[in-house]
Amino acid sequence: MKALVTGGAGFIGSHLIDVLVKQGHTVTCLDNFSSGRREFIEHNMDAITLVEGDLLDMDDVMRALQDCDVVFHLAANPDVRSGATDTKTHFDNNIVATYNLLEGMRKKGVRTIAFTSSSTVYGEASVIPTPEDYAPLIPISIYGASKLASEALISAYCHTFDMNAVLYRFANVVGPRSTHGVIYDFIKKLRKDPETLEILGDGTQKKSYLYIDDCIEAMLFGLEHAREKVAIYNIGSEEWTEVREIADIVSREMGLSPSYRFTGGINGRGWKGDVKFMRLNIDKLRTMGWKPRYSSNDAVTMTARWLLGELL
Ligand code: NAD
Repeated sequence: MKALVTGGAGFIGSHLIDVLVKQGHTVTCLDNFSSGRREFIEHNMDAITLVEGDLLDMDDVMRALQDCDVVFHLAANPDVRSGATDTKTHFDNNIVATYNLLEGMRKKGVRTIAFTSSSTVYGEASVIPTPEDYAPLIPISIYGASKLASEALISAYCHTFDMNAVLYRFANVVGPRSTHGVIYDFIKKLRKDPETLEILGDGTQKKSYLYIDDCIEAMLFGLEHAREKVAIYNIGSEEWTEVREIADIVSREMGLSPSYRFTGGINGRGWKGDVKFMRLNIDKLRTMGWKPRYSSNDAVTMTARWLLGELL
């Protein structure tokens, strides 16, 4: 493949680049370093082409698409919470950015896109584990809406301009280089105050966590085996982990026994737009031959250990 990875300096993108480079593919990385970090890709700088640029700038998009045949589109603002106070960032960096990329692909004749969507497109699903054909899709966050809008745009471009796509609906992905999320937050809070841990919501929120290595393997497996014009895959682990259990795991790994203070939130949610219960049905990829190696709790524990070694 001659692959363009947008958001390649981010958490998931940099792991994807590691594997693509190892497999001998030609890789271009487009990133504006808004949340990405140079240190995540610097060990690959001799092997990849870096376009330091923005998907909101059409010249940068066209430059990055030079000589590429597959686009892995990961660049986005992934912070679900921020949508409750800032409605423009997700619209620009997730929807307009995707539109610009599709326009660039159309003009350059690049025909394959693999897109990192999210479980948030399902909103508060009444069926758990939630399968890919669950409907209606009613996101409850601006972030979820931006992912669903991007899926719709990609699907329409595929059918109008003879392109094909793989849409990955991720559960929570965790692992080395993750720079946001509940495990990261708990460690930061406990470093500041080892006696008391503030937990957003009522602690009974339950979600599925997937280890980064499993995530990258599933992405490449899904792309390789896709037969539909627009293939949709749920990517997650088969279990889930309660927020309170994450607090227990992080505390244990830090050798602490803090008391927990729950903020209560709105109906026990951590924040507006927080989906309280999320677990994806992964039978589609499973029957094709992929399954995760690590459980949800293992993924949380391994990530906590890595972050503890990294965060000062
Ligand atoms: P991340 O923030 O680490 O990576 C996103 C990257 O995109 C960053 O390097 C950032 O600098 C870059 N970027 C953002 N806006 C850009 C723009 N306008 N132009 C160029 N680059 C831009 O996040 P991540 O966790 O690695 O997420 C990667 C993708 O997977 C995102 O699309 C995210 O929505 C999706 N996703 C992540 C999770 C998860 O649990 N991490 C779950 C579901 C979906």
